[in-house]
Amino acid sequence: MEPKIIPRKEHCISRKQISPNALYILYQLHRKGFIAYLVGGCVRDLLLGRIPKDFDIATNATPGQIKRLFRNCRLIGRRFRLAHLHFKEETIEVSTFRRSINTNQTSVVEESVDSKQTRYHIKDENGMVLRDNLFGTPEDDALCRDFTINALAYNTADFSIVDYCNGIIDLNQRLIRTIRDPHMRFKEDPVRMLRAIRFSASHNLVIDSAVWENICKLSYSISNVSPARLFEEIQKLFLFGFSKTVFHLLYKSSLFTALFPDLSQWINRSRNNLNLIYNNLDRLDKLYQNGKASSVVLFFSFLLGPYIEDNALSKHRDSVSYKQALENVCNEILKSVCETVTLPKRVCNMIHGVLSLQQSLRRVPPKHPDSMIVRPEFSDAILYMRLKAENSDEKNEHLQWWDEYLNQKQASSSIEQLSNKAQKKRRKNRCRKNRKKTFKNNLQ
Ligand code: ATP
Ligand code: MG
Repeated sequence: MEPKIIPRKEHCISRKQISPNALYILYQLHRKGFIAYLVGGCVRDLLLGRIPKDFDIATNATPGQIKRLFRNCRLIGRRFRLAHLHFKEETIEVSTFRRSINTNQTSVVEESVDSKQTRYHIKDENGMVLRDNLFGTPEDDALCRDFTINALAYNTADFSIVDYCNGIIDLNQRLIRTIRDPHMRFKEDPVRMLRAIRFSASHNLVIDSAVWENICKLSYSISNVSPARLFEEIQKLFLFGFSKTVFHLLYKSSLFTALFPDLSQWINRSRNNLNLIYNNLDRLDKLYQNGKASSVVLFFSFLLGPYIEDNALSKHRDSVSYKQALENVCNEILKSVCETVTLPKRVCNMIHGVLSLQQSLRRVPPKHPDSMIVRPEFSDAILYMRLKAENSDEKNEHLQWWDEYLNQKQASSSIEQLSNKAQKKRRKNRCRKNRKKTFKNNLQ
């Protein structure tokens, strides 16, 4: 199939917006006679007038050829063999054009290691692709990408856009459409459903109705994805200032139920619980917009906190101390979350830390404030405390106490910093004088 070529004068991408390192790689590959394009999210973002997160390159040079061309190249990856080109300020991913096989076979369908380094393509019994690394043409490469808007390529040979899947039309209509049948593409890789929701929320795009229908139909299959990969995806979904919209779409499509079944049951128990989650995520997004980088601990505390605390309260009534009940419930709930989404042990400990600190933070004056502030979860615990205060009408003199205490601490620490600096300067001057003296003495 011939691609649509959009010449330089008909699109807005200029070389000035592209990383000089990416341009250098593209030009080097061209010079050696290879085809090389800028591909994926960066082309989409440049066309939408956004700053790309990173620049990816696809080429017909094999990983071995790329490695021989660039000294700063490392080959990585098991599922896809990729080249990473390391520069001082960034790493650029260079992949060889890929192709996928359309087959319904359920086990290894091809395994050959030939001179072109063709490797294997394995599907499981659900049709999910576990591994593939077959090299193909630029067209093959475009067709195995997830959405039409992610399959555009920028060709630095003539500065045109190469469009095999009508990505430009969809981009102009701000539409997320899968390449080929959405049912098949989501079966192959259920993470694409999360990606559709992520791009819709982050780029303010509309998910095509057939795509949306299939997300709703196949939402259950997200639990077939490895919990470690889901943890990675959850971070991309919720930590960048659009978590409320993401939650809305996940909830409406039932993906949220498949990801967090127990929490969903609790949410569905009352309108109030649902509103609480919307409200907490809205707060998380506002913090992000005000410059507070979200942490995975803060996100999970905001998401799971009300549910864990609610359960701990009900267990506490059965003559167990609240502290103990909270610890038991926290362990139980986090263990069940980890069945679908792996949370590292450190993260689990810190979420427990954030929630268990709440009782001590509410005491006025608190018992050992200085030992509390050095705990790694302290800053997230303070934010969670503020969130709870906003969500309730109760008196919050503890908030005021902590505000004053932290202000004082900040003032004294900046004074300390200043005096440290002055001390360092004095010491430096003294050393310099001493050195001069010794030098003079040596001359005499
Ligand atoms: P972001 O701006 O978040 O990085 P992106 O589109 O660049 O968005 P990446 O995860 O960096 O996303 O992937 C780069 C490209 O690789 C995508 O644009 C898409 O073409 C392709 N891709 C990534 N994940 C998949 C997938 N699961 N299935 C098919 N193609 C994918
Ligand atoms: Mg990217």
